[in-house]
Amino acid sequence: MTLPSHAQIVVIGGGIIGCSTAYHLARDHRADVVLLEQGRLTSGSTWHAAGLVGQLRSSAGVTRVLKYSVDLYKGLAAETGLETGWKMTGCLRLATNADRWTDYRRLATTARSFGMEMHLISPAEVKRMWPLMEVSDLVGASWLPTDGQASPSDITQSLAKGARMHGAKIVEGVRVTGFGMTGDRIVSVKTSGGEIACEAVVNCAGQWARQVGALAGINVPLQPVKHQYIVTERVEGLAADAPTLRDPDRRTYFKEEVGGLVMGGYEPNPQAWTTGDVPDDWEFRLFDDDFDHFEQHMGQAIARVPALAGAGVKQMINGPESFTPDGNFILGAAPECANMFVGAGFNAFGIASGGGAGWVLADWVINGEAPLDLWTVDIRRFAEMHRDRRWVCDRTLEAYGKHYTVGFPHEEYESGRPRIVSPLYERLKRRRAVFGSKLGWERPNWFAPEGVEPRDLYSMGRQNWFPHVGEEHAHVREAVGVFDQSSFAKYEVTGRDAARALEHVCANRVDRAPGRLTYTQLLNSRGGIECDLTVARLAPDKQGGDRFYIVTGTGFRTHDAAWIAEHLPAGDVAIRDITEDWGVLSLMGPKAREVLAKVTPADVSNAAFPFGHVREITIAGAEVRALRVTYVGELGWELHVPLDATGAVFDALMAAGAPEGIRPIGYRALESLRLEKGYRAWSSDITPNDTPFEAELGWAVKLGSNTDFIGRAALQAQAGRPLAKRLACFTIADPEAVLVGRETILRNGQPVGYLTSGGYGYTVGHSIGYGYVRNSEGVSDDYLASGAYELVVANERFPAQIALRPLYDPENLKVKA
Ligand SMILES: Cc1cc2nc3c(=O)[nH]c(=O)nc-3n(C[C@H](O)[C@H](O)[C@H](O)COP(=O)(O)OP(=O)(O)OC[C@H]3O[C@@H](n4cnc5c(N)ncnc54)[C@H](O)[C@@H]3O)c2cc1C
Repeated sequence: MTLPSHAQIVVIGGGIIGCSTAYHLARDHRADVVLLEQGRLTSGSTWHAAGLVGQLRSSAGVTRVLKYSVDLYKGLAAETGLETGWKMTGCLRLATNADRWTDYRRLATTARSFGMEMHLISPAEVKRMWPLMEVSDLVGASWLPTDGQASPSDITQSLAKGARMHGAKIVEGVRVTGFGMTGDRIVSVKTSGGEIACEAVVNCAGQWARQVGALAGINVPLQPVKHQYIVTERVEGLAADAPTLRDPDRRTYFKEEVGGLVMGGYEPNPQAWTTGDVPDDWEFRLFDDDFDHFEQHMGQAIARVPALAGAGVKQMINGPESFTPDGNFILGAAPECANMFVGAGFNAFGIASGGGAGWVLADWVINGEAPLDLWTVDIRRFAEMHRDRRWVCDRTLEAYGKHYTVGFPHEEYESGRPRIVSPLYERLKRRRAVFGSKLGWERPNWFAPEGVEPRDLYSMGRQNWFPHVGEEHAHVREAVGVFDQSSFAKYEVTGRDAARALEHVCANRVDRAPGRLTYTQLLNSRGGIECDLTVARLAPDKQGGDRFYIVTGTGFRTHDAAWIAEHLPAGDVAIRDITEDWGVLSLMGPKAREVLAKVTPADVSNAAFPFGHVREITIAGAEVRALRVTYVGELGWELHVPLDATGAVFDALMAAGAPEGIRPIGYRALESLRLEKGYRAWSSDITPNDTPFEAELGWAVKLGSNTDFIGRAALQAQAGRPLAKRLACFTIADPEAVLVGRETILRNGQPVGYLTSGGYGYTVGHSIGYGYVRNSEGVSDDYLASGAYELVVANERFPAQIALRPLYDPENLKVKA
């Protein structure tokens, strides 16, 4: 086929992801699409996949994507006439120890929260369903009846046929070699067969996606890793509809295939392929068999399915697959380029994800925003540091090695650390800080008292840090503490039109007098919350240009900057990331003013420096930007300090605060404090799926003004109507209930939602959870207040109380001001 000279959208890559994206672009959006494949369709990673299709993940959005895949695969053959090999066999996951069993009890609850059926079954039931299995070491298993398996090449060919039927053009044997760019926008795709002018590009180039992205200056942080499985001869007694099987404690998986078994695994010592470019000529190619490396799986698998010992190995597959540093795939609008979208890095669940990933990606390309909350897989969760190939490789191998280990709450990665440290790192370490890492930054999670080992000991129940975090929490409530929050992302928005431009992207009014702070959400066209941040109006520059200082969460640095940059209207306005210019010390607690007054000549009385204001004050000779805000429900200031002065300002605070017993406090106490006060966290409590009204943040929306802002129309349509869901707070008195999020909310015995955040409030002495209560006929105050609530925690019901006001009395703030 000759190449067209123009296409609205060019999809690069003819694996399952590219074909699914082209199919959905053509079917759902009638888009003019050309898909380019350098070899033949499926010839990258897709053709050699094992074909297990699981659905449940810890993110509701990703689970929805996977569920969509299953729905699509079920009916695709009827539409295209090409079979997909889809078999709904169900999936068994085996547990051989108590921690794994607790994990499954939580998973079963998550499944129920997400509207899926998952059962926990006994070893005897497992044996009935899979008679060839040895079950003597089992505690039990989880059973997800709607999971299944499919033929990866057949699904892909079926999707490709469907795409063509809806008008897409698919061209094989054409390699993309570069892009014609105007600024950060792709205007044409250069190929081995000529050039195509286009409006948008979707990079679905599998393990080549990194190098294809680099041609347009974008970073796709994935790492090809070798992954092996075997296919056996027929195994006597194996049913054709045997459930797929995951045996994570033995690191292996199984699937029936033409009477034999497919068996593979996730080893703790994975083998990276190249950190250089992947060769272009890798069509339908595999690595040599590596039985020495695979042997570790063989022993474990035979112990589970003894019949395997006598079954001949028909074939061994050793193929490359793209893995990522956090085990999640990479989707969405690349932050470095105006019109390249990415769907890559599928971590050996690309067949399971393919149908749904194509659906959401197509929508994203056409509408410029994701159709649902996909933060877990959003490409904007990465940052500059992810251009470091060695770091990405090391962290990816760690994530691969943990694929089948028990995932403990609060678990931290260990590789590639420390990467970015605040100027206080050594000081905090000396004070026995136990660090976690967020977007490369080392941050203190908690501080071990003398005599306590400064190390997390993971477990499924209350962990070793629990009482020590409680002391930190109490100290902030009763006296004063300092949080090192230097990792906060910070931007400066400047220009003569900056105020007008920010008014357009912010839901709250930010065009206020210099010196004022505004807490605001940034909304998408559905009124969903895309960002949640603080905007400080600074004094104008010498030319009279507006200056705003924006502060947001560490992990949202790339995401929020990209969202703002993409949505700023044309004019004299620019955004600059200045994260590394400023350290941040949050001085919080009822004694905060006493301490601050000792280190600055500025008047920090409530009259001179009220809540919601920003002032330049001097501490230890440094010009400090002090923001009177709080995320803990106490009097306090965020002190933004020129980075090189952060240590000196910290020392001054510690010396001045000694009589008040000032001490550094970690992020785990911060979480507990904010849960009590009811502050929302973006990415869990508030997401692109939730509007400010639903999140009880309507007070921060300027619907009363005449300003047009993104999301306004959607909010206006929602205003004054019954809301189908509302965020509420729940508490559980039973100390046995450990909340981790995703627990099901029962109202009068019926499921009405699930927790978005869960933790413990040390002041109130209860476990605390937040979650949306749903009711299609409307969630009124009466509806909320009148129900009898329970939370399902790890598959067990606990009575719960609903709280319609913050648990920690906000009046305290006024009293202490
Ligand atoms: C051994 C093994 C077992 C697996 N088992 C499972 C499983 O059981 N279940 C599951 O869900 N997943 C499994 N996977 C993962 C699955 O195979 C992948 O996630 C999926 O195939 C990825 O699809 P893709 O479209 O992203 O990539 P690919 O299939 O690699 O497609 C990318 C395509 O882009 C083309 N391309 C690259 N560069 C260019 C260019 N410059 N110009 C034009 N075209 C280009 C390539 O030729 C390639 O065909 C397994 C993987 C392996 C290795």
